[in-house]
Amino acid sequence: MTLRGYEERLRRAGIGPARSDVTALAAHVLGISNASVMARYGDEITGDAAASLEAAVSRREAREPLQYIIGKWEFYGDEYVVSPSCLIPRPETEMLVEYGISRLSRGDRIADLCCGSGCIGIALCRHAGVICDAVDVSADALDVARLNAERLGVAGMIEFHNSDVTVGGGVSCKYKMIFANPPYIKSGVMDALEPEISYEPALALDGGVDGMKFYRSIMDNYGDYLDADGEFVFEIGYDEGAAIADEADARGYYAVVYNDFSSLPRMAVVKRKTRE
Ligand code: GLN
Repeated sequence: MTLRGYEERLRRAGIGPARSDVTALAAHVLGISNASVMARYGDEITGDAAASLEAAVSRREAREPLQYIIGKWEFYGDEYVVSPSCLIPRPETEMLVEYGISRLSRGDRIADLCCGSGCIGIALCRHAGVICDAVDVSADALDVARLNAERLGVAGMIEFHNSDVTVGGGVSCKYKMIFANPPYIKSGVMDALEPEISYEPALALDGGVDGMKFYRSIMDNYGDYLDADGEFVFEIGYDEGAAIADEADARGYYAVVYNDFSSLPRMAVVKRKTRE
């Protein structure tokens, strides 16, 4: 089959970006650049390469995320290993990294709760020179995060801790910022998500009935670990701006909500209210 033929198969499976997905899969399987793939787009693929590409395209046809088939993905300009034990890094999450870079100084201490692949904490170690404690409930996710820290040269700047943030733990000092992209999808809509998301760990997505479960636990269990002027920097769901502001207010904090590049609420910076 030609790459054009594979593209048609993905289109029939309902995959919108069929051409870019086939290009990425072929570049991965053939070990060549996207530009070289484009040059071979009309050629018949044969032999071992055809068998490998067939296997990869079949997985994508079944709506497995491209990122899990390729096994790596870019976040903030760096290549991360990804596996079904952690969420695939999303471009929206780069917003939290940018916020951190604009306000943190070399040597500052931060935490990254529910760290998954480690992308937030690792990107901040690399690009802001901070020291990070990263926490996740999943030992498998932490294995991926440790591997990423090593591959990206920051293993000496980040420590990983296996703790459940609904219980607390995994942190040991005061932090200038505590980042978290916790599970925040409302349990009731988990079944209505795109088929690709069913391959991602529900543990990393399901935020309880109102999607707020983990923010509540984090504010309750980790507030004492913020510097006097420290901040929680949360990724939130597009419809959770008002809810996070209420949860913060009820605990003596206030939230400033920022929109992402789709003009949807995506980040909440939560700080202590100053006393009158
Ligand atoms: N951004 C993810 C999504 O929309 C959710 C991430 C999360 O729950 N932390 O699928």
